[in-house]
Parts: sequence; structure tokens; C-alpha cells
Amino acid sequence: MKVGQPEKFIIDGKRLDGRAVDELRPLKIKAGVLKRADGSAYLEWGGNKVIAACYGPREVHPKHMMRPDRAVLRTYYNMAPFSVIDRKRPGPDRRSQEISLVTRQALEPVVLTNLYPRTAIDIFIEILQAQAGTRCTGITAASVALADAGIPMKSLVPACAAGKVDGEIVLDLFDIEDNFGSADLPVAIIPKTGEVTLLQMDGNLKGDEFERAFKLAVEGCYQVYEKQKEALIEKYGGGD
Ligand code: UDP
Repeated sequence: MKVGQPEKFIIDGKRLDGRAVDELRPLKIKAGVLKRADGSAYLEWGGNKVIAACYGPREVHPKHMMRPDRAVLRTYYNMAPFSVIDRKRPGPDRRSQEISLVTRQALEPVVLTNLYPRTAIDIFIEILQAQAGTRCTGITAASVALADAGIPMKSLVPACAAGKVDGEIVLDLFDIEDNFGSADLPVAIIPKTGEVTLLQMDGNLKGDEFERAFKLAVEGCYQVYEKQKEALIEKYGGGD
């Protein structure tokens, strides 16, 4: 057993943070929190605290990135040095590059980039405090920031993970479960069509466990989607 690993993750049906196996961590979303960004969002999701800022459509620099037929979508995921227990070295690293890439790939299918040729849409995701699941938190925040910036999109993109601890499939891992559990499966979807725009997996799952974890993560995405819509309705009013 690793240092810090709990003997059991689920005791009397409750997880170590008191949640049921299919329960999300508390999630609060606020749209429009930064004056100088075109759109922004602040999320608190369990112990994750994340800001997303969207700029654009705007001029593309460097110019060679410009596309004649569409906007380029660029995503920058950054984890603050103070966001984790062991100080994180500032600046980009392989992990942040990978998360920036999968974030862009999760969002690109919904953004109507063809409406803004020769421009850039930039999204900055700053992790202020991390408690596992920051890529899902970042994608969820980024899509609200895009909507807040008035960028035309087919849909919002909610994200949520499921995983496995103590042989059980659980929703939305927090850090102890993520560090010492057996699997983590982050998923992002386009709710209206059910299309999947992010699917990654750490650890190992049997086929039937994978199916159950995937289904649970998708159900989590739909709950997150409701919160995204609430945040936008709170700022702008109106319906769906
Ligand atoms: N983490 C950390 N230091 C790092 C990177 C990650 O402590 O340099 C923690 C942080 O809590 C993060 C978790 O490990 O949320 C899981 O990281 P992972 O790479 O699985 O991505 P995430 O689950 O955040 O999308």
C-alpha cells in the first residue's frame, strides 16, 4: 500500500468525503467574472477552483496561425504553483500541454469557427486550487466562458469523470480517490446529440466496468450541463 493510501474508500455506502457513489461534488458556476475578458467563468467544484477567460474573435498572432476559412481556437491550461499540495513548478509542462490539447479537441466540435475566418479565439484556463478532475472543471468552465463571450456554439460542453475505487464504480473522483483508486475516466459530451468529445482513461477497468463507468460519467455530464445553463440564465436571464 502506498503512503497516504486509505485502507478503504467506501465505508457503509459512503465515500471518504461523505458522498454516495453516484454523487457529484458540490458545483458552483458563475459566468462573467472578469472585466477585461470578452467572456469568463469561475467554477468551484469540490476543492477545485478554476477561472476561464475567453478573448476573441480577435487578430491572430503569430500571423502564420491564421486560417482563411475559420477562426483558430487556442486553449491554454495552466496550474498555479500554489494550487496543489507539493508546489507545482510554474510554466508549461507536458501535462498542461496535453490538457490544453484535449480541451481544445473537446470544445472545437461545438464552436462555429467558420463564422469568423482569419481570427483567433483564445481561452485561458487557470487552476487556482486543484482537487482532481481539473481537466473536466476546465472544459466545463471554458464552455461557459465561450458562451459568455457571445461566441456562437452548437451547444455547451459539460465534462465529468467516473472511476473505480474498492472495486466499485463511482462518480467524480476527488484527490484521494484519484491518487490511490484503480481507474479514472474523464468524459465530455455534447448534451443535445450525446456525442462524446473527450474520453480518456487512467488505470484499468474490465469491459463491463468500463461501460458502467462511462454511463455514470455521461449522467454526471448532464448534471453539470444543468449547472452551466443555470449560470448563464443567472447572468442573462431567459430559457434554454
Ligand atoms: N496534481 C498535483 N500536482 C501536479 C499535477 C496534478 O498535485 O503537478 C494533482 C491535482 O490535484 C490534480 C490531480 O493530481 O487535479 C489529478 O491530475 P490529473 O493529471 O489526473 O488531471 P485532472 O484529474 O486534474 O484532470
